[in-house]
Amino acid sequence: MRRLIIAGNWKMNETIEESVSLAKSIKESDKVDVIIAPTFLSLDRVHNEIKDKNIKLSAQDVFFQEEGAFTGEISPTMLKDVGCTHIIVGHSERRNMFCETDSSVNKKIHALLDDNLIAIMCIGETMEERDSNRTNEVLKRQLTIGLKDVAQLSQIIIAYEPVWAISSGDPKHKAATTKDVEQAHKFIRDKIRELYGDEAAQNIQILYGGSMKPENAEALLAIEDVDGGLIGGASLKAESFNKIIEIAERCN
Ligand code: PEP
Repeated sequence: MRRLIIAGNWKMNETIEESVSLAKSIKESDKVDVIIAPTFLSLDRVHNEIKDKNIKLSAQDVFFQEEGAFTGEISPTMLKDVGCTHIIVGHSERRNMFCETDSSVNKKIHALLDDNLIAIMCIGETMEERDSNRTNEVLKRQLTIGLKDVAQLSQIIIAYEPVWAISSGDPKHKAATTKDVEQAHKFIRDKIRELYGDEAAQNIQILYGGSMKPENAEALLAIEDVDGGLIGGASLKAESFNKIIEIAERCN
């Protein structure tokens, strides 16, 4: 039985003090795994705030080298040092705005595995790719290259985030239907089965991300192959994030 995960990606929001205060008001849970991902700057203070609670800490990105002349970058060991257990890699905002590629995602994943960290690997198609019926082809490519030479998946969580459903302020964004989500998650799990076998496919947690909020969380979390949510906008208010955690606890 896969445990549900509710993960909040705070993106480039909240000062250090605001992050600490938001972390303080987030509900811990022993029924579902709660993860929060503040900015790099807030990780240390947020870790101090949550270290005795049942809430895990994630970074929003990482670099794949351990140390050296890589101005502006942060290594897996440094993230582990401030208390991170999870790291988001390959978020569509990084792919689209910061030149992240499937192959850099793959390097980051290997670096995280070497440091015993858990990767939350984001995949998902753009609206244009969906409209030209290339969703499955894109998901297959992102999975195959992103997981290249990864021997086993115990430290991998997948987040399916259709780019067009993320509430990034794009006026053309639209909500994914439960049917869209169901089909994509089934495709992903089937692909994992093909690549890694039945046990890995049964065990891997596949999160959905894209405008999840208290109003639609129950329907999304009830989908068979959805094992939780990666939540942007609704994770920035403790009230809505806590409500989603409570809904997940009931779905478990
Ligand atoms: C995200 O960007 O990871 C995300 C899912 O954002 P939102 O919930 O705001 O759509």
